[in-house]
Amino acid sequence: MNIQANSYGSARYPASLASKLDLPLMICFRVTRFCNARCGFCLAPPDGGNHPKISELKNRVDWLLANGVKTMHFCGGEPTIHHQLPELISYTKMIGGKSKLTTNGILVSDELIHALKFAQTEVKVSLHGNEIHHNNIVGKNAFHSTSESILRLIRNGIRTSVQTTIVHNHLDAMDWIIQFCLENSMKKVSFLPFIPRGYGLENRSLYDLSLAEQRMLPELIKQNRREYMNRLDIRLLNFNSRPIHVVEPDGRIVLEGATEARDTYLYQIPNVSL
Ligand code: SF4
Repeated sequence: MNIQANSYGSARYPASLASKLDLPLMICFRVTRFCNARCGFCLAPPDGGNHPKISELKNRVDWLLANGVKTMHFCGGEPTIHHQLPELISYTKMIGGKSKLTTNGILVSDELIHALKFAQTEVKVSLHGNEIHHNNIVGKNAFHSTSESILRLIRNGIRTSVQTTIVHNHLDAMDWIIQFCLENSMKKVSFLPFIPRGYGLENRSLYDLSLAEQRMLPELIKQNRREYMNRLDIRLLNFNSRPIHVVEPDGRIVLEGATEARDTYLYQIPNVSL
């Protein structure tokens, strides 16, 4: 196989791989599978692995950039509980990559805020509704820390949006979240219908949207888009529509389908010491 040195440090990669893997411009990069919350519908719960070392994570960023990916969408698990996330975000910026971050917002350190500003990272915070509903969903009293983190990110000039999972019997959470975004001058919100993956598969009976709710959701999105046009960008994410590329904490690249049974293993990013 033709192996050549890339332009980022000493990592090496197979030259012809990019076209074979057909990697997207932005990839979901799981920093860890551990989390400080306990959502009953978690798509990517702990899988028995460990936090990867920072050298491994940086090597993956090198490899992905060398193979055509431009933006690392850092996610988890909960990426903020990896102590070297700020370093990883800054590193990505320094070698020419872009980054996004999805977080539950429970733990946003000053160091992280500094790195997010430096890297101009766009941040998506998971907030699921009012205090009672949010705390029920995440399995702990996290509403105040999460909503306060959102306000801190905004105050620091970081582009911040909200992501909300919509579950059975709680379509009304959409109204509450939209008002929260408007009151805090946010420009974007994404709604994600419940997906039966990870813990969600076990708890499907609790969270799965009924057929009527599945039909109603896009209608409500349309109505709200009309009502809040030019004030709030309201998105409906549908992970069922097409598979997405994910880098797991052990360096595997997986094409994730609507259910785990439809996942396809693509490649193991080689671990090269930096
Ligand atoms: S859904 Fe997100 S915040 Fe909730 S347990 Fe999973 S990783 Fe943590």
